[in-house]
Amino acid sequence: MNILVINCGSSSLKYQLINMDGEELLAKGLVERIGIEGSRVKHTTIGKDEVIIEEPMKDHKRALELVLNALVDSNHGAIKSMDEIQAVGHRVVHGGEKFANSVIIDDEVMDAIRECIELAPLHNPPNIMGIEACRELMEDTPMVAVFDTAFHQTIPEDNYIYPLPYELYEKYGIRKYGFHGTSHKYVSQRAAEILGKPIEELNIVTCHLGNGASVCAVQGGKSIDTSMGFTPLEGLAMGTRSGDVDPAVIPFIMEKEGLTFDEVNDLLNKKSGVLGVSGLSSDFRDLEEAAADGNKRALLALKIFCNRVKKYIGAYAALMCNIDVLVFTAGIGENSPAVREHICEGLECINIKLDKELNQVRGKEAILNKDLTSTAILVIPTNEELMIARETLELVKK
Ligand code: AMP
Repeated sequence: MNILVINCGSSSLKYQLINMDGEELLAKGLVERIGIEGSRVKHTTIGKDEVIIEEPMKDHKRALELVLNALVDSNHGAIKSMDEIQAVGHRVVHGGEKFANSVIIDDEVMDAIRECIELAPLHNPPNIMGIEACRELMEDTPMVAVFDTAFHQTIPEDNYIYPLPYELYEKYGIRKYGFHGTSHKYVSQRAAEILGKPIEELNIVTCHLGNGASVCAVQGGKSIDTSMGFTPLEGLAMGTRSGDVDPAVIPFIMEKEGLTFDEVNDLLNKKSGVLGVSGLSSDFRDLEEAAADGNKRALLALKIFCNRVKKYIGAYAALMCNIDVLVFTAGIGENSPAVREHICEGLECINIKLDKELNQVRGKEAILNKDLTSTAILVIPTNEELMIARETLELVKK
């Protein structure tokens, strides 16, 4: 069975076509600048050269039409006709408290996803546009929604309720939701597979360290806490997001700097994190290079980032009594030995003993500790698309 996985942003659309018989990637691509001048599709069928299709695209429906054309193209396509796409899996950022699992999309589900727009005003609308476009163009193909928040719906209420007046939770749903759920789920399951142990018996801490970053405590295969919260702004210091700060700082800077609500939101989401501290870049490659050249603020930004991750690992060790497995994933987690080393430095006290030589690995699965009586430390490249395809297959088969 071939499954098309779709991930829509406001002006972008990422896709993968996966043959689920052997979980084999057939084609992948990215549409950029939808609705903006200069829109284009970058399409690659595995085993063939990348093609770039430049064409105006006024909306996601037109973008998807071009993607489907590329997939069935006789030269650069991967399949002969659209009939060879048996199901579509859509990434949806926010499922609120309504969705603790992936679901087959119907009109009722669409209404429920629309109701979650309030919780994710930037993310859910483009996800919905992608689904609507697909439902128009592929009327008879079953579709599944896979939510970034669903994996975290197992978090117990003493970890997800904020110590605010309880009515705010009841009236507006203000609570921790958590994000990157598909990634945390994929790498925790893969960790158990690699170690050949039942996931039900493992306490796992997964560190998804990319431009957005979060840590998750996975006990017996279930998320019991995560660092992101009501929005993806809480928790770790990130590329451009502040993560945890004293909430009193916000009205203070609004007053001192004369900022509006939108401006302070922009400051916290786009101008903070390692970019804000370093004043240089949100990209860890730039920061590591600058720090090696003696740039103090780049070094400070890296230290803050690593300390925050370390503190969450410590908190989750306390929450679960011990950590059997520590997983690093996403752009930084998979590719930066230096960041992994700084995070693990000093964690020997909780049995986390990174081997510096084994740690010199980038972008592939690896075990980073020799001492097998200590916490297993793994690098696992994340694969959210495959996870979405697996969930889609499971529901469609039923
Ligand atoms: P993601 O959001 O998972 O795509 O991760 C993107 C981030 O990964 C980039 O902003 C970089 O900071 C980081 N990254 C990618 N490659 C490397 C590398 N070789 N060394 C350090 N950081 C990297």
